[in-house]
Amino acid sequence: MQQRPWLIDGHLDLAYNALEGRDLRLTLSELRAADPLAQVAEGAGQRATVTFGELQAAGARLVFGTIFSMPQAKNSMSGATLPGYTDHAGARQQGLQNLEVYQRWEDQGFIRILKTRQAVAQHLDTWTPQAPLGVVLLMEGADPIRDADDLPFWVERGVRLIGPAWQKTRFAGGTATPGPLSDLGQQLIRAMHDLQLTMDASHLDDAAFWDAAEIGVQMIASHSNTRTLVDGNRHLTDEMVRAIAEHGGMIGLVFCNSFIKRGWKRSEPRPTLSDLAAHAQHYAGLIGWQRLGLGTDMDGGFGAEGSPDTIETYRDVPRFLEAIPAEHHENVAHGNWERWLREKF
Ligand SMILES: [Zn+2]
Repeated sequence: MQQRPWLIDGHLDLAYNALEGRDLRLTLSELRAADPLAQVAEGAGQRATVTFGELQAAGARLVFGTIFSMPQAKNSMSGATLPGYTDHAGARQQGLQNLEVYQRWEDQGFIRILKTRQAVAQHLDTWTPQAPLGVVLLMEGADPIRDADDLPFWVERGVRLIGPAWQKTRFAGGTATPGPLSDLGQQLIRAMHDLQLTMDASHLDDAAFWDAAEIGVQMIASHSNTRTLVDGNRHLTDEMVRAIAEHGGMIGLVFCNSFIKRGWKRSEPRPTLSDLAAHAQHYAGLIGWQRLGLGTDMDGGFGAEGSPDTIETYRDVPRFLEAIPAEHHENVAHGNWERWLREKF
């Protein structure tokens, strides 16, 4: 039997889930039995799929773990127990809480925070089944950062990837909240460019995206599907996909049903892994298979109910590979992200 390739996942909200009350150190059945998010709203349960054990069972050796702060009253889906922020100070507080969660997990031996290209290489080169999960820190929504002068504070703590927007932030227009880079955003992206940091284009509105592309900052899209199959500025246009490739970037495929199938509702049958593979095929037609990886976002507010058919827990993620050509399994599972991390991180 062919051995399943190991995984790199370009997007998981691990710390945010912990702050929502999910203990990812439990087994999945323990977590599901005690899950504060299981029944957040009638019909909007989000059955947990991600624990450290499930990640290990899937063969994940490295993931991009987000520092995510929730703005006030913007997302009723998760029934957030954290207060939403209304200003920089509130966002910063949440960002620091995320960081603290990752640091605690590192102290306890569950993860290893990888702050440099060398640390990534060493983690992957010396990996054993007993090794902790490697985590690179990705800030999703930049409001915890005060301004360009505050960037070194976060870089010292390991943040080398930053998505300026989620919904609109002080820096940029975002998902369903259009707008360009603000003056503060222009300064931030220029400073990121100078420090050779990477911008995550996922969630960025088109206007802000093109402002950033003009500055020439290195970019990826950690969790984004194609706008040719699903409408809205959350998804990438073909022009954006080509620009990301031209900037040496990568795109992570996101396992969220409403980002896979246009207009999908929970009352309908779940999209299949072939439906997700259609996004990969479209991207490959534009930029080839060597810039595609996983960016599952499987703990990003949708759960098993909102994941493709046959994906009941994170350990099922490798099933996706069966929906794409065999010669690309290894590269999409880990090889493409690995190359990017070794060369560009
Ligand atoms: Zn996201």
